Amino acid sequence: MELPIYLDNNATTPCDPRVVETMVPFFTSNFGNAASRNHSFGWTAEEAVDYAREQVAALIGANPKEIIFTSGATEGDNLALKGVAEMYAAKGNHFITTTVEHKAVLDTCKVLEKEGCDVTYLEVERDGMLDLAKLEAAITPKTVCIAVMYANNEIGTVNPMKEISAIAKKHGVLLMSDAVQAVGKIPVDVNEDGIDLMAFTAHKMYGPKGVGALYVRRKNPRVKVTAQMDGGGHERGMRSGTLNVPGIVGFGKACELCRLEMEQDAAHTSKLRDKLETELMKIEEAYLNGHKENRLPHVSNISFKHVEGEGLLMGINKDIALSSGSACTSASLEPSYVLKALGLGDDLAHSSLRFGLSRFTKEDQIDHAVELVRKTVLKLRDMSPLWEMYKEGIDLDTIEWAEH
Ligand code: PLP
Repeated sequence: MELPIYLDNNATTPCDPRVVETMVPFFTSNFGNAASRNHSFGWTAEEAVDYAREQVAALIGANPKEIIFTSGATEGDNLALKGVAEMYAAKGNHFITTTVEHKAVLDTCKVLEKEGCDVTYLEVERDGMLDLAKLEAAITPKTVCIAVMYANNEIGTVNPMKEISAIAKKHGVLLMSDAVQAVGKIPVDVNEDGIDLMAFTAHKMYGPKGVGALYVRRKNPRVKVTAQMDGGGHERGMRSGTLNVPGIVGFGKACELCRLEMEQDAAHTSKLRDKLETELMKIEEAYLNGHKENRLPHVSNISFKHVEGEGLLMGINKDIALSSGSACTSASLEPSYVLKALGLGDDLAHSSLRFGLSRFTKEDQIDHAVELVRKTVLKLRDMSPLWEMYKEGIDLDTIEWAEH
């Protein structure tokens, strides 16, 4: 078996070879600028972009005219939220979001607050689900937009978008969704789901990095966003900048493949994910994070009690590439804010592993991962005085630890 095994597909996916093949001519012979109107190089590029726009729109049930190509979801989230804040300033300045959004949404909201907007950050339940009664209660006459992610990147919990959009509609509020982790993995339909703005990105769905899209509804209601980039007026004035033609072509192909193969991919990843999870949950004091049913088919997030997070990662990351609940900041290891928001303590957040599978994951890779994680957890616990005390029945929460 080839090592290391890649199980970090929520961070990024490999580019499907069929996507790469479609892109190559747009680096070489078909290198034209899609905005060059006077010659065939430009026309060829423009045609390819139009075709990709149709492929992208088809995956989410949108009209191609509703697709704005961006550099990725961070840009899409920024354009949606800042663009709505500016465009609808006369209507109101209140936004509602959740504490478990990606930083691309949370940090954008912080900027909006500095610029005079009010933002309500709703907490989620222990399983990552939003309390819809709390959501509705948070709406005020000044609310312009609810921003709720379709599926969470750390725990895979999927939000009930139809129910959320019914609430938004009832109050005449726009619904924006960061759907990065959901698009291409589970059926997403902007009309059925009632979403008005939606950001997504190619590199999480077997496409290239540096290209994504913002869906902006054109009918019922017609939504507008103020451009955040000034220049040549590309993308119907909403996003200036020469289009990344090879990237867009690859994104289109990736969307088409996901549309055609999503069911088969989901069956494959969920079967392997369930095997991995069943085996790992046999380990004593292992806890599944997130909702057990309402979640993405390829994600599992598990915490191992009384295991030192850094040691756990060091024990496995030579063979397995994945993410843990410890995020490296410049000076220290910070526990995941998403897991903390679910109510986990620092220890369980640090000792969590996020497994993200893909259409390319193989069964023997899962078997190897299970064995290595099990061995590492047991070894670390063997060396851990905390585990020893726990086994002796000492209540660790009542011990007074010395300050250091
Ligand atoms: N939103 C979510 C939920 C994500 O998982 C990510 C990627 O990590 C992003 C936004 C950012 O997307 P991009 O890398 O395309 O800017």
